Amino acid sequence: MKRKQKVLVTGAGGFIGHHLVSYLKKKGYRVRGVDIKYPEYKPTDADEFFKLDLREKNNAFKATEGMNHVYALAADMGGMGYISANHATILYNNATINFNTMEGARVNKVSRYFYSSSACIYPEYRQTKAKMKPLKEEDAFPAQPQDAYGWEKLVTEILAKYYREEYGIETRIARFHNIFGPFGTWDGGREKAPAAICRKIATAKLMGKKEIEIWGDGKQTRSFCYIDDCLEGIYKLMLSDFPDPLNIGQDRMVTVDQLVDIISEIAGVELKKIHVAGPQGVRGRNSDNSKLRKVLKWEPGISLEQGLVKTYQWIEEQVSNKLNK
Ligand code: NAD
Repeated sequence: MKRKQKVLVTGAGGFIGHHLVSYLKKKGYRVRGVDIKYPEYKPTDADEFFKLDLREKNNAFKATEGMNHVYALAADMGGMGYISANHATILYNNATINFNTMEGARVNKVSRYFYSSSACIYPEYRQTKAKMKPLKEEDAFPAQPQDAYGWEKLVTEILAKYYREEYGIETRIARFHNIFGPFGTWDGGREKAPAAICRKIATAKLMGKKEIEIWGDGKQTRSFCYIDDCLEGIYKLMLSDFPDPLNIGQDRMVTVDQLVDIISEIAGVELKKIHVAGPQGVRGRNSDNSKLRKVLKWEPGISLEQGLVKTYQWIEEQVSNKLNK
């Protein structure tokens, strides 16, 4: 029975993993969280939380022991600033985390395994202009991800496929497109664009400044998906019988400048954008949700504005607390 099922969430100290633990608890599962760190902003809802480094094989075996399902979210990751400057470290860390966790799941007879892949697996040559065709799952090959982070995600997708075919583990693979929301990294160098922009705007507002710096010319495009939609997508995909990679994201593409304008309006400020040199990633990216709609009969429905209101409020509170320390 579902209520008695035991599930492991790796990366449970991180942004999506922390939210997923709470989501699965509400669904009635017994949840084990694993991470190298505890959640930074809120205590975990997990029934048990093991602080383990999954680059060690024995730790991955301990983490997966006695589990029915695994949600594998642990990764050494961050925004473009981090990903574009740490290729070797990211490839080594994430490959060892994922190979060990998958093998632990096999040895411990886990029946279902969710793997969090990324839109970063898509080839750079399909993302060279701000307005490109939305990315379909089939567009992944011939492969040419921009960074080592994307190459590793692609290899682990293939690992998941072979573990399913050879060992019968029901692997499920989501390619997330820029997930955002409260309780995610918002400073320190690993934060991603929505959180970084919320922080810059909140800081300017609270300090009475009139301008903010934006990496690049502001015309680079992305789609952004709110965390609650991401959690629904993960769960629906995990329980589905669809074994191939599936996009989980919004298909509304906006420029970085538009993202700044939306957040400025939420904050109630008018700021001058100063465009400066900085890592931007691919020029343009959007999700094609045709397969998602067909397979799950669902797609993300929370608007960018709705999601950003909640995210901005939380980040402004964090910035305010830090400034008043
Ligand atoms: P996050 O950085 O907040 O969470 C990842 C967690 O993994 C962190 O808490 C980190 O401490 C943990 N971790 C790192 N190394 C570890 C190790 N050796 N052993 C155990 N735990 C370790 O990132 P997130 O945004 O929550 O992303 C979750 C997953 O989704 C990741 O696999 C990420 O690559 C993927 N993803 C996220 C996005 C996004 O927009 N947030 C987009 C595409 C893919």
